[in-house]
Amino acid sequence: MPEVNGRYIPNAKAPRVPDNEEPAAERACDFRPVDKGYTKEMAIEEANRCLNCKKPLCVDGCPVNIKIPQFIEAIRAEEFGRGLDIIREDSMLPAICGRVCPQESQCEGVCILNKKGNPIAIGQLERFLGDQPELGSTPKIAPKNGKKVAVVGSGPSGITCAGELARNGFEVTVFEAFFTGGGVLVYGIPEFRLPKAVVKREIDGLTELGVKFEYNSVVGRITTADELFEEGYDAIYIATGAGLPKFLNVPGENLPKVFFANEYLTRVNLMRANEFPEFDTPTKHGKNVVVFGGGNVAMDAVRTAKRLGAERAIIAYRRTEEEMPARRAELHQAKQEGVEVMPLVAPLEFIAGEDGNVASVRVQRCELGEPDESGRRRPVPIEGAIEEIPCDVAISAIGTNANPFAELIGGMELNKWGYIVANEETGATSNPRIWAGGDIVTGAATVILAMGAGKKAAADITEKLGA
Ligand SMILES: Cc1cc2nc3c(=O)[nH]c(=O)nc-3n(C[C@H](O)[C@H](O)[C@H](O)COP(=O)(O)OP(=O)(O)OC[C@H]3O[C@@H](n4cnc5c(N)ncnc54)[C@H](O)[C@@H]3O)c2cc1C
Repeated sequence: MPEVNGRYIPNAKAPRVPDNEEPAAERACDFRPVDKGYTKEMAIEEANRCLNCKKPLCVDGCPVNIKIPQFIEAIRAEEFGRGLDIIREDSMLPAICGRVCPQESQCEGVCILNKKGNPIAIGQLERFLGDQPELGSTPKIAPKNGKKVAVVGSGPSGITCAGELARNGFEVTVFEAFFTGGGVLVYGIPEFRLPKAVVKREIDGLTELGVKFEYNSVVGRITTADELFEEGYDAIYIATGAGLPKFLNVPGENLPKVFFANEYLTRVNLMRANEFPEFDTPTKHGKNVVVFGGGNVAMDAVRTAKRLGAERAIIAYRRTEEEMPARRAELHQAKQEGVEVMPLVAPLEFIAGEDGNVASVRVQRCELGEPDESGRRRPVPIEGAIEEIPCDVAISAIGTNANPFAELIGGMELNKWGYIVANEETGATSNPRIWAGGDIVTGAATVILAMGAGKKAAADITEKLGA
């Protein structure tokens, strides 16, 4: 630790320790993790840059207020188990959040060192600790309180809530529509960004805590909220996500080889279409792939297409790179891997080739106009500026809606778009025995927010039922 007279002096002028990435040309050919994570030496070097601010803005920048300077201090002191315990007071999924949180717009975005574009690599440090779960203390588990909770959905919100409740003495069963747990963490985010083994470790940890998982169980189809109560559950936490695709609403959208990103990604991530015929589900390996959208989902889809052999993989976005909501690291890595960014275009029509499959897409060139209600400048079509881009696979990644089962589960108020109406601080719904959180309440958001909602709901359920 850099010290003078026993006082810590940060190496604040040192450059940020670079990410430990695989070379772009090699990694873009397969699904290996792009970022190998910091070694111990790299983590300590990076921790030694932290200013240890008296008023740490990074903590306010984190949606769950992780005590960032404290865990960084523990890394400096090489007390990694202590560092992990500090994170776990606020976040149960550091190995996941360290990899996928949009740190640049949260903790790292407000880091004082970011004024010079050199913020502490908080995500990398969090991941460094999260990847060594064996070093942390064994969580304390309250004695069983005799109460049963059903958690619907095993995404980050559901598993966080389940873990907290199990530790608080509840008997918890997670009902999951898919054959495996993790939600978007396994069906949406590709292996090269978030290895399945990391998510499995978290699910296994819950099983060890006594949480039961009922897979292939679509609540709303197999059972309703009322039936769960009749079966003896005292409370329900609903975290079914927002994975229903939004349509582009342009002609030709239903042509073969025009995919929704979630379907395309699920085929590869969950059904291992990249290993067809060893696995049953195929997908189209396009040579010219166009993906419409500018968020993380679009980036994951285009980078997956590249790994499936696309020679030309394009991100077509209606605004400019600056307005893209994707994590900066994703955009940067996608470009390194040869993805082409085509800004200021909107799809007009998908056109079929002789074989009936999509062969091209007509796009409208745009320019930026006045800001819209989101504060971002609105794309305005340039009259007559229409082009045709050849493609043998097209993917739409322009957003999602609420998963449609909340209505069938029944028993609580939904808004007009099908999202559950729930208290932001507690997750409480209009039904005193049902709580809800994550994307099914907020709309498509982030892992850390979904997780935070699960934690808040678990605290409220414990307060209301736990004693
Ligand atoms: C491709 C992709 C990439 C993303 N990348 C990032 C990123 O880099 N960083 C980030 O912070 N966020 C990212 N996000 C967003 C983030 O993953 C979500 O905000 C988060 O997963 C929401 O968590 P959740 O628990 O609310 O829902 P989900 O993760 O969607 O989980 C919901 C679960 O509920 C199950 N389910 C649905 N209906 C039922 C039912 N009726 N019965 C039983 N089970 C049901 C679903 O099968 C699913 O497993 C990404 C999203 C996608 C799609």
